[in-house]
Amino acid sequence: MKYGITESVKTLESKTKVVDVIHSIVEEKTKAVKYFLEGEEFRETLIFGAYLCGHYMASSLLNDSEKVILVDKYPHLKDIVLNERITFMDINTFNLALRNKRLNPDLVIDLTGLGGVSPEVLSNFDPEVLIVENPKGIYDRDIFQADNSREKLKTGRRKGLLNTYRISRVSKTSGTMTLTIDTILDACHEIRELEGVLYVVPNIRYYEGTLFHEKNVKKFIGEINTPAVTVSSLEEDIYPKVEEILGKNIDRIKSFVEPVDR
Ligand code: SAH
Repeated sequence: MKYGITESVKTLESKTKVVDVIHSIVEEKTKAVKYFLEGEEFRETLIFGAYLCGHYMASSLLNDSEKVILVDKYPHLKDIVLNERITFMDINTFNLALRNKRLNPDLVIDLTGLGGVSPEVLSNFDPEVLIVENPKGIYDRDIFQADNSREKLKTGRRKGLLNTYRISRVSKTSGTMTLTIDTILDACHEIRELEGVLYVVPNIRYYEGTLFHEKNVKKFIGEINTPAVTVSSLEEDIYPKVEEILGKNIDRIKSFVEPVDR
């Protein structure tokens, strides 16, 4: 706790950090995928899209798969892959391995979302299980037009669409960053309603600029390691309420894999 302009006003920072919100979301998505896989074991898992949940999911699937390959268009994202047992491939390495027929995955997961991997790329494989993340969070005409997740579900013996929504709240997409920002902003509105609160500041930035434009992974990791909200309040004792509201909003996020027959 710090004081504000005078000692009658306090400044509180949430214990929950931005990275904690991200972590809860990627954990929820991974849990949904694991539930769909029903404990099945795999020889080779291929995951497309390292950011933002790909890396976490890849680490977790190391328990169910002899080999896990994480493919991303951007070579610098190798730096977010801390687990040495994950094989990272940038798009050139992936294309070469594909041409040389060195890839034979029995589990394929596409997390690339809007504008990501094409249905043609996925049709190169014939896995036991294919899971594609549905990037849509709600009806938006442009997003519906841009989304081709169902078209990607043409190969694989068992297929599923990974969906993520928020209970009673709306987000435009299911993207981990979209959900992180919306969760923190919605929590801010609720915290503001507490008696004695003057204002609430969400400590969020345009992180994708740091990660994809500046290509600075270290800076990105530092930036998300910050309290999710700063609250200016007359009373210190609203502190547990701040955490409770953040927690309640995080718990709204639910993922499930919808089986797809076609
Ligand atoms: N759905 C994810 C976010 C995906 S962002 C989540 O919610 O966490 C898209 C990611 O896929 C980025 O890391 C981007 O670099 C990668 N990507 C986009 N197109 C790709 C392609 N054609 N091949 C491999 N990776 C791709």
